[in-house]
Amino acid sequence: MRVAVLGGGIAGLAAAIDLAEGGGDVVLIEAGDRFGGQVRTTRERGFLIEEGADGFGPDQPTVRALLRDLHLDDEIIRPDRLTALVLEAPGDLRAVPVPATTVPPTTLRSGMATLINGMTRRLERKADLRIGNAVVAVTRTRPGWTVYPELGAALVVDAVVLAVPARPAAWLIHPLSPQIGRVLASLGTRAVVTVVAAYPKPAVRHSLTASGFSVPRAESGDGVELCEFVSSVLPGRAPPDWALLRTVMRPARGELVGTTDEGWAEVVHEILRPVLGLQQPPGAVWVARWADAMPVVDDRYASRVAEARTGLRALGRIELAGAAYDGQGLDAALQSGRAAARRLLAT
Ligand SMILES: Cc1cc2nc3c(=O)[nH]c(=O)nc-3n(C[C@H](O)[C@H](O)[C@H](O)COP(=O)(O)OP(=O)(O)OC[C@H]3O[C@@H](n4cnc5c(N)ncnc54)[C@H](O)[C@@H]3O)c2cc1C
Repeated sequence: MRVAVLGGGIAGLAAAIDLAEGGGDVVLIEAGDRFGGQVRTTRERGFLIEEGADGFGPDQPTVRALLRDLHLDDEIIRPDRLTALVLEAPGDLRAVPVPATTVPPTTLRSGMATLINGMTRRLERKADLRIGNAVVAVTRTRPGWTVYPELGAALVVDAVVLAVPARPAAWLIHPLSPQIGRVLASLGTRAVVTVVAAYPKPAVRHSLTASGFSVPRAESGDGVELCEFVSSVLPGRAPPDWALLRTVMRPARGELVGTTDEGWAEVVHEILRPVLGLQQPPGAVWVARWADAMPVVDDRYASRVAEARTGLRALGRIELAGAAYDGQGLDAALQSGRAAARRLLAT
């Protein structure tokens, strides 16, 4: 079976591994310039920056099992357990007597991209791996499909895994079935912006002896959701004299593209300045925008995903995979990719 897996996030990689190891002839096509999707680690000037997913919890056994399988268990580290803070009102930063919610329970020493690199290595020589090449169309060419990447020749395949968020899936499917396209387009997502900023320690009045702070939703509305004091809980993520702060923002409608990176850096600095007593602007900032960061799950979400899946199966061997369809987070995305592979291998 020749299979095209569209989307090289963790779901697409998981599907590609199981399909290739199950005997499939797999081509994995990713639009971005690297695999990993919402898992992105950047190393620069002695800093290690998680721009997307930054860890996993005890409720994510599939991630742990995969790490074991990839011989990466010794990469697992637990951030130092420090007090969690909550920002009740501007300037009113209080300790809360609950387990820290602002840092994930576990992460990887060399960054979450280590998991992606492990998965990609596993696929080398087993699959045709392509990055920087968005798929722009899929047509039904019985008995299979023709997949059209932006660059290079069209691919004729027996089966397709759509491991892309619901929005691109809707664009690709709409010409084949406007009805399924509309169902996919109705699956809402929420955007997130992460702003990671580095400050010289002497320029920060707050002691930062905490894991970070969260902002109650009612207080925050669209705005800051939480700020992790990364350098306090994860030694080695910043040079010794630097404080590294990772702020997660909920952009209001239009802000995601309407605000520049410099604009985001300034917004976050102005929020943190009075709270943490910042004496100068950051020395370095990394801004990442995630348009489809997480599904907005309402009562009808699961039934619409089921409707899209049933409709697609009536068209042929084509599967949806990823956090957009089977639940937010790395574990759910992994399981979703593996389940898509299983279904195709069984047909
Ligand atoms: C800021 C942030 C923090 C998070 N923190 C955590 C965390 O700590 N723990 C946790 O468990 N989860 C976390 N998550 C969620 C987790 O990262 C995601 O649920 C998971 O990575 C989704 O994987 P996926 O493969 O389903 O989708 P994605 O990672 O979105 O992958 C989809 C891929 O499809 C590609 N694509 C899109 N269109 C096309 C096309 N036309 N052709 C080819 N490729 C295409 C995209 O470029 C992308 O690489 C976080 C997410 C964000 C944004």
